[in-house]
Amino acid sequence: MIAYCGLDCSRCETYRATRDDDEKTRAEIAAKWSVRYQCELTVDDINCTGCKEEGVKFSFCGQCPVRACCRDRDLDHCALCPDYICEKLQRFIDQAPTVGRALEKLRQKNKNR
Ligand code: SF4
Ligand code: SF4
Repeated sequence: MIAYCGLDCSRCETYRATRDDDEKTRAEIAAKWSVRYQCELTVDDINCTGCKEEGVKFSFCGQCPVRACCRDRDLDHCALCPDYICEKLQRFIDQAPTVGRALEKLRQKNKNR
């Protein structure tokens, strides 16, 4: 379940809590992510079926400009984009370095094909 930003949604704790309908874990994630993202999240916010799947999205991912851009360009992920790394993506990577590492791995994988 590779997201447009290169992260693997199947490893995301919000995805797993949604899949398992696990209220206890949702509460733990809400507390943890409220601190991490400096906002106030409730248990109800911790719902996401994955970046590319039908259904509810976690707010940040649903509003993600990188996700919207890939969808507009009909790309599977940013690593396949001729404009890689654009300013929009760079801003995202600055906030979330794991995204940059995930996309670099995808770039390498595509080169080796
Ligand atoms: S799109 Fe959903 S499942 Fe994927 S990383 Fe974002 S919150 Fe997690
Ligand atoms: S322009 Fe940037 S955000 Fe859009 S698909 Fe290409 S690399 Fe990703």
